[in-house]
Amino acid sequence: MDKETFRQYGYEFVDWIADYFDNVRNYPIRSSVNPGDIKSLLPGSPPPEGEDMATIWKDFQDIILPGITHWQHPGWFAFFPANNSPASVLGELLTAGIGAQCMVWETSPAAAELEERVLEWLRQMLGLPAGLSGVIQDTASTATLTALLTARETASGFSSNETGIAGNMRVYTSAEAHSSIEKGVKIAGYGSKNLCYIPTGEDYAMLPDKLEQAIRDDLDAGKKPACVVATIGTTSSTAIDPLPEIGRICRKYRVWLHVDAAFTGTAAILEENSNLLKGAEYADSFVFNPHKWLLTNFYCSAYFVKEPELLIRTMTINPEYLKTASDEKVHNYRDWGIQLGRRFRALKLWFVIREYGVSGLKEIVRKHIRLAGLFAYRIKSSEEFELMAPVNTNLVCFRWNDGSRSEKELNILNKKLLSRINESGSVYLTHTILSGRYTIRMAVGQRTTEKEDIARAWEVIKYSLKEIKKSTGRPGTS
Ligand SMILES: *Cc1c(COP(=O)(O)O)cnc(C)c1O
Repeated sequence: MDKETFRQYGYEFVDWIADYFDNVRNYPIRSSVNPGDIKSLLPGSPPPEGEDMATIWKDFQDIILPGITHWQHPGWFAFFPANNSPASVLGELLTAGIGAQCMVWETSPAAAELEERVLEWLRQMLGLPAGLSGVIQDTASTATLTALLTARETASGFSSNETGIAGNMRVYTSAEAHSSIEKGVKIAGYGSKNLCYIPTGEDYAMLPDKLEQAIRDDLDAGKKPACVVATIGTTSSTAIDPLPEIGRICRKYRVWLHVDAAFTGTAAILEENSNLLKGAEYADSFVFNPHKWLLTNFYCSAYFVKEPELLIRTMTINPEYLKTASDEKVHNYRDWGIQLGRRFRALKLWFVIREYGVSGLKEIVRKHIRLAGLFAYRIKSSEEFELMAPVNTNLVCFRWNDGSRSEKELNILNKKLLSRINESGSVYLTHTILSGRYTIRMAVGQRTTEKEDIARAWEVIKYSLKEIKKSTGRPGTS
């Protein structure tokens, strides 16, 4: 590609993205293609000769775009948000443009030092304890795996890397914890049988008494408690595990405490939520995702550790060809995680924090929490719907319940209702199961979501309910 063509399409793409930010609400939020549709439009073998940028660009619009689900749509209430923002896209563009591979300090000193600085900013923004050191991981799943590996190595007196795991090392997490814990436990070699799920209370948060009991039982049985993963904001219902109690138990039995705050951690940037991370001083490691709810596009997961030496000692590999003269004086982030090669991810985060400022970010997060509260109020005031879990931040768990149907019927009808809601194409909600009950989740966190979008979602929900009632052939009682 010659320089002029690059320039031409560069400008055109930026124009297109700027328009997309405005137009995204006009797309059907979920792609409606069928499995195999996109693949069938793509040639089975690569082009032998170079193609024209104009053709490639046209194919992006004709083939790729219809297969995109629009996470940046203001009607996005599914799963959790994965926000971008103009500042983060521009940072990403520069990262791609300079194309640096930032595995060690020497391969781009600015990347290493900016990462150190920006993570320190984040630590302050969340009000995490002083002295925690941060590193950007690709995802919370990877950060949690990293924590499980460090916990394993620490609990074995730094022998498990060399000899493998001896005996039954145990990991504890709540029954509501994210699937990445089980995945990490499997990969780290604990064995999924050694993952102990601790029961939760009515609010779906871990019961610390049950945790302590499980640890004692394991000690009595000659097993080795290695790690507790507490969740601040479970994915299902944003339940908040009681960190101070869990932390005291971890300290008492000398067990590694990892805190998974992937989604909800962002809420702690608001002073009114400072209680969310109470007890964080007990954490040996902590993760939250700016790539979910802090306007920084995927991937960007912030991982903090109390004692980086333990992490580095677990991860370090120092072959001759990677040694550099500055190794003693700087952070070589290749030793702070699993992968060797690293993208320059701190740049987009730096752009986001500077362009919004802490106050700008707070304003958006506060808006989401307020809007979720507004929606929860509508659910609470309606006789046909009920809340299914406490609304701790920006997630509302609810279902339709007219009081006249069995649990089994309600499960079937709420599933139907959700699918009808999503057929609208203007909002997207997903579900979970809480205590065996089919529950609809409304996660409010898309950057551009406003009050009108909540109102529209409510209209869609009510309309869909009407349709469902018609089709059940039995009038509702209210
Ligand atoms: C989303 C989520 C994860 C997984 O995050 P990834 O960055 O996609 O790996 C883990 N834990 C919780 C609580 C989450 O909400």
